[in-house]
Amino acid sequence: MKQDNEKNFPCTNPCKNRKIAIIYTGGTIGMERSENGYAPSPNSLQQTLDSISDLHHPDMPEWSLLEFSPLLDSSNIAVNEWNKIGQAVANLYDLYDGFVILHGTDTMAYSASALSFMLEGLGKPVIFTGSQIPLCELRSDGRDNIINSLLIAGSGRAREVCVYFNGVLLRGNRSTKQSSDHLLAFESPNYPHLADAGIDLQYRDDAIHPAQDGPLHFKPFAQVPIGVIKVFPGIQFELFESIMTDKLKGVVLETFGAGNIPSYGGNLLPIIEKAYRSGTIVTVCSQCMQGTVSLGAYATSKALHDIGAVNGRDMTTEAALTKLYYLFSLGLPKEEIKEQMSRSLRGELSE
Ligand code: ASP
Repeated sequence: MKQDNEKNFPCTNPCKNRKIAIIYTGGTIGMERSENGYAPSPNSLQQTLDSISDLHHPDMPEWSLLEFSPLLDSSNIAVNEWNKIGQAVANLYDLYDGFVILHGTDTMAYSASALSFMLEGLGKPVIFTGSQIPLCELRSDGRDNIINSLLIAGSGRAREVCVYFNGVLLRGNRSTKQSSDHLLAFESPNYPHLADAGIDLQYRDDAIHPAQDGPLHFKPFAQVPIGVIKVFPGIQFELFESIMTDKLKGVVLETFGAGNIPSYGGNLLPIIEKAYRSGTIVTVCSQCMQGTVSLGAYATSKALHDIGAVNGRDMTTEAALTKLYYLFSLGLPKEEIKEQMSRSLRGELSE
C-alpha cells in the first residue's frame, strides 16, 4: 500500500520520441579557462554533453548539437547574430519538434525578445538557456539548465520563445537579467512564470501564449539606427540634442517611475519635440523592474503624452528595443509602427 509520505518521481516523459536541435552560440556555459579569462572553446561541447549521462536517459528527447562559428560572448551578439539564430531555426524548423538555444546570459533577454518578433507564426518551443558557472567547473548550473530546457522543449507545452534558468520558465520577451552572480539570473517581473521546475515541471497553461499554428515566417532585422536614453537626476538634455536628427528612427526613453521625466529649466521638451518633429518614434519605458508606465498620471509625464510619445506600458527595454528593430525592418509606415508599439504582438506587454 502507498504511504502518505511516499513521493512519485515522474520519470516517464511524453517527450522521449521528440527531436530537439540544440543551437550553441557561445556564452559561459561552454567556456573554458584561458590565459585571458574564460573564453568560448570551439568543438568541445559535444564531448562535454556526451559525458552527462542524464542527457542520454531513455526519457530524454533525442537531441543534436549545431555549433556556431565563431562562438561568442553574448556581449558581441546583435542584429547579425539574431538573424543567424533566427535563420538556423527557420532552416531546421520542419526537421525538429523544438529548439534549445545555448547563449550567454548578458544579452540573452535581448536575443530572446528579438527572436520572439522575427519568428512570425512560431508553433514550436524555442528555449534560451545558459549558465552562470561553466559546465567544466564544479557546481555548474549549466547541467540542470540544459536538461530542463530539453524536457521543456520536448514537451511542446510552451510553443513560444522562452528563457529557462534555474528552475523558472519565462516568456522570452518579458525576461530581464536581474543578477550578474546569483544562479537565479533572470526574472519576468511583469508576467507570471510559464512553468516552475520543482519535483514536477509545473506549467501555467493560462499564462502560456496560444501557439500560432500558421507556417513559420522568418523576418530578419535590418540595421536600424535606434537608441536607448536612460533619464537620470541632473540629465543635461541639450547634450543629446545633436543625436535627435531624422537619421534616428526610434528611441526608447527609460523614465522614472510611471513615465516621468525632469521638467527643470524647460530643456527637455524642445529636445523631445525635436525628436518628434524629425519623425523619431519615442517609446516610454520605466526604469522600475515592476509596474507600468501611465503617461499623463503626473504633470512630469503629461508632456511626453502631449507630443505623441508611445506608452510602452510594462514592456522591458529589451522588448521595446527589439520590437522597434522588427517593425522598422518590416518597412511599415511610422503611424503603424507607433500603433503596433503600444499593443501586444507576442505577449510582450499588458494592454
Ligand atoms: N559574458 C557571458 C556572456 O554573456 C556571461 C554569461 O554567459 O553568463 O556571454
